Amino acid sequence: MERGISLERAITLVKIEKLNLSLEPVNLENAYGRILGNGLKSKVDDPRFDNSAMDGWAVRKEDCSPKENTSLEIVGTSQAGSSKTFTISSGQACKIMTGAQIPKGANAIVMIEESEIDGDNVIISGPARDTYIRHKGENLLKGKKALSIGNFMDPASISLAATMGYESIEVFRKPVIGIISTGDELVMPGSKIKDWEIYESNSFGIAALVQKMGGEAIRYDVVADSLDGLRESLNHAVKNCDAIITSGGVSMGDWDIVRKLMELEGEIIFWGVDMRPGGPPIFGKWSGIPIFGLPGNPVSSHVVFSMLICPWFSASFGTSKNQSPNLGKQVRVKMLDNVKGAKGKLCLRRIRITSDLNGLVATTHTHQGSGNINSIVVHNGLTLLPPGTDANVGEIIDAFWFN
Ligand code: AMP
Ligand code: MG
Repeated sequence: MERGISLERAITLVKIEKLNLSLEPVNLENAYGRILGNGLKSKVDDPRFDNSAMDGWAVRKEDCSPKENTSLEIVGTSQAGSSKTFTISSGQACKIMTGAQIPKGANAIVMIEESEIDGDNVIISGPARDTYIRHKGENLLKGKKALSIGNFMDPASISLAATMGYESIEVFRKPVIGIISTGDELVMPGSKIKDWEIYESNSFGIAALVQKMGGEAIRYDVVADSLDGLRESLNHAVKNCDAIITSGGVSMGDWDIVRKLMELEGEIIFWGVDMRPGGPPIFGKWSGIPIFGLPGNPVSSHVVFSMLICPWFSASFGTSKNQSPNLGKQVRVKMLDNVKGAKGKLCLRRIRITSDLNGLVATTHTHQGSGNINSIVVHNGLTLLPPGTDANVGEIIDAFWFN
């Protein structure tokens, strides 16, 4: 077991325990947010055939004078979705709609706005442009790979997959993460609460973080501070989950049962990371599956998830930290308030990042206690202050900007 390690080292250790996720098919309708498990080659050329980018007239460029109006004989109308094809010869034009096939013999398009019909003829008053013709395969050739393994299926990727002819794609199975909150003081929001109790909040926030990272969360019942209760809950969860996240009970207190049970019966890989907030997380294995023991303070559990569990998800999907899904990105910000760092620890103060004319700037607005979840709500980022450093007004520092 390693103790009190740097965040960098902790990330290295959790990545070793990344999941090996199998693939499953998903229809495009349900593909949003999924991670592509195979590269996709186009089944068709895009465009499929030469077609018009404008509603207008398909013409021969050499027939149209750039200086004076030209009268051309109309041969018909080429419509999108129609199998009818046309041919034009010198002195002729074919009316054409956006997306319709280009008639044989035509090499340019005149916009409809720059024309007037005169009996069986059309009077062309604007330029005939070859750039208004979209050529077969100019975007994508049949057989060319356009989406790579690990691609986050965002709306544009989904459209592209459909353009390429896929109705269903192979994606990585969603990792199933069990979430277990511990603490005698916890009661469910909405239920009756006694003077010495608090509403359980971490499991809800952590479940949302899991979903945001592309996982499926199972929230288990809160476990009281008892070794037997926790053992039973963990043994139950390992049957259905790829990994477990617990909340609370990882510090030095007498009732910190997650730490105690892991010491007695689990496998601890590390305990404690040099960061504030979020110092005491435990990482290890229970019955062979990864278990992240997050501190109970709500800010700490969110911050540790963002810094440590997020990279573990990326490693499991084979994506990089700058690829989606992620919870944010590392940026440089200019501080508009002073912030105090922490001795010997990476300091993650909550900041609100906005942009001004010169770039990103950051301010702080609330009490920074690790129990104050509202401090994450009213801010949108974290400082990444190296151990033992403060940041004064005007200084430019590294920060994590939540998305
Ligand atoms: P612990 O890590 O168990 O020592 O808890 C640290 C602090 O976080 C205590 O004030 C707890 O009451 C609080 N806490 C622990 N678990 C939760 C939870 N699931 N939801 C909200 N607060 C919690
Ligand atoms: Mg506790």
